[in-house]
Amino acid sequence: MAFPRNESEVSALVASATRVLPIGAQSSLTGGATPRGGMVISTRSLARIDRPADGVVGVGAGVPLVELQRALAAAGLYYPPVPTFDGAFVGGTISTNAAGAATFKYGSARQWVEALRVVLADGSMLALRRGDVVASADGWFEIERTSGAVVRVPVPTYDMPDVPKLSAGYFARPGMDLVDLFVGAEGTLGVLTEATLRVIPLPRRCAALVTCASSDQAVAVTGRLRAEAASSWRGKGPLDVSAVEYIDERAVRILPDEAFAQAGVPRPAATSVLLLVQFEVGSDDEAALARLMAVLDSCAVDADPVLALAGDDRGAARLYNLREAVPSSLNAQIALTKARIDPGIHKTAGDLIVPFDRLKDSIALYRRVFEQYGLDYAIWGHVSDGNLHPNVVPRTLDDVERGHDAITEMARGVVAMGGAPLAEHGVGRSELKQRLLRGLYGEDGINEMRAVKRALDPGWKLSPGVLFSEQ
Ligand SMILES: Cc1cc2nc3c(=O)[nH]c(=O)nc-3n(C[C@H](O)[C@H](O)[C@H](O)COP(=O)(O)OP(=O)(O)OC[C@H]3O[C@@H](n4cnc5c(N)ncnc54)[C@H](O)[C@@H]3O)c2cc1C
Repeated sequence: MAFPRNESEVSALVASATRVLPIGAQSSLTGGATPRGGMVISTRSLARIDRPADGVVGVGAGVPLVELQRALAAAGLYYPPVPTFDGAFVGGTISTNAAGAATFKYGSARQWVEALRVVLADGSMLALRRGDVVASADGWFEIERTSGAVVRVPVPTYDMPDVPKLSAGYFARPGMDLVDLFVGAEGTLGVLTEATLRVIPLPRRCAALVTCASSDQAVAVTGRLRAEAASSWRGKGPLDVSAVEYIDERAVRILPDEAFAQAGVPRPAATSVLLLVQFEVGSDDEAALARLMAVLDSCAVDADPVLALAGDDRGAARLYNLREAVPSSLNAQIALTKARIDPGIHKTAGDLIVPFDRLKDSIALYRRVFEQYGLDYAIWGHVSDGNLHPNVVPRTLDDVERGHDAITEMARGVVAMGGAPLAEHGVGRSELKQRLLRGLYGEDGINEMRAVKRALDPGWKLSPGVLFSEQ
């Protein structure tokens, strides 16, 4: 593994190698950052953070988001599109167009990237600023390499689903910006070395854990909160919601008692569905809080929410840790099953998104399909975006295999609802996710992506096997 310290070292390494895999924190859930031979370039030492100025900050690709946030907070600033795992690196999150809970208010990584520095497959360096290079009217980019040679890159013609977050191969739109081609390309078109990111004043945030009696009630509350947020963004209300997370009753049951004890939250009834609501307040949080209580009353939510008000960082962290205990508890359970039953057992989950008005239908679809396939399951995720992660709770290797078929069937259903089966985790080398990508854009769409890759990386050097195969 190589640990280049600057762009010139990255360039020399890429130029000399025949196969290259750039990696960040390797938190990918798709196998995209798992070495399989060839040179692995760790971006860890590209760790510079510039002093933020004029609403932007320059950062090395190897900066973990948690460190970026720490540096920004010292200047009263914040970088909003953070995935749930904040140890992810800037380069990895841009390469997967990562998004998190607060996509609802802030969008995904793409909207926050102002400029990129990229090392191409031949070692050429590219400095891109948003607005400088856009696709021609007939659908091409012209890129000049360091040698002076000009490469023509075709813009794919497939239609991307209209959803708030998407990590499904190459971005494609008439007149698109070249920056957007590299955002979400999962390392297949170049190695990102630096980025200039937009930042905002650090918001004052509150969190509320809401116990709902059913999934339908949780969906109704989320719909009301989205409407309240939209009003507040128009200056017409105090409840500025930035994220709502959903934990269904099956996921709640997976949580061990210690998780609730550590959060200081009593374990709810076995049929309860939890929502973790994040909202932003100015100097006075009373009005927002009163509005939140009115929404919960209007949706007939009986239980009082557990609150962490602005400034109560510990209280908020306890609630977020409870949310995080959901995937980690399931992962621990899967590891035990794997050790006891079959080493081939692994995490099998969807990363599905639908337009919000189809959310209820999508949850009904996930439940119906899991039940048809005779699978145990749990569902959680970023409900304010309509993005949920239906997870198989595997008991046997057969469950894993049937789980793949179940998720493929759900994917067809969400595409029919105008959604997408690849919202935020990307495609990587996962056979299942590559199948979902083919299902979304068809073989023609994949061939259009191959044409982009071939133009920029004719030797198929960068991240081979990620997104799609060479043939
Ligand atoms: C507990 C947990 C929760 C998660 N929650 C979320 C979530 O809420 N939202 C979300 O979007 N994701 C989530 N993820 C997935 C993961 O954190 C994201 O995909 C993240 O963006 C990956 O960043 P990374 O630095 O770990 O990249 P890696 O995993 O190292 O790499 C990911 C991909 O990007 C490529 N890459 C990495 N760095 C570069 C670079 N400098 N140049 C070019 N290519 C590069 C790699 O080759 C690989 O294909 C979660 C993961 C975990 C484990």
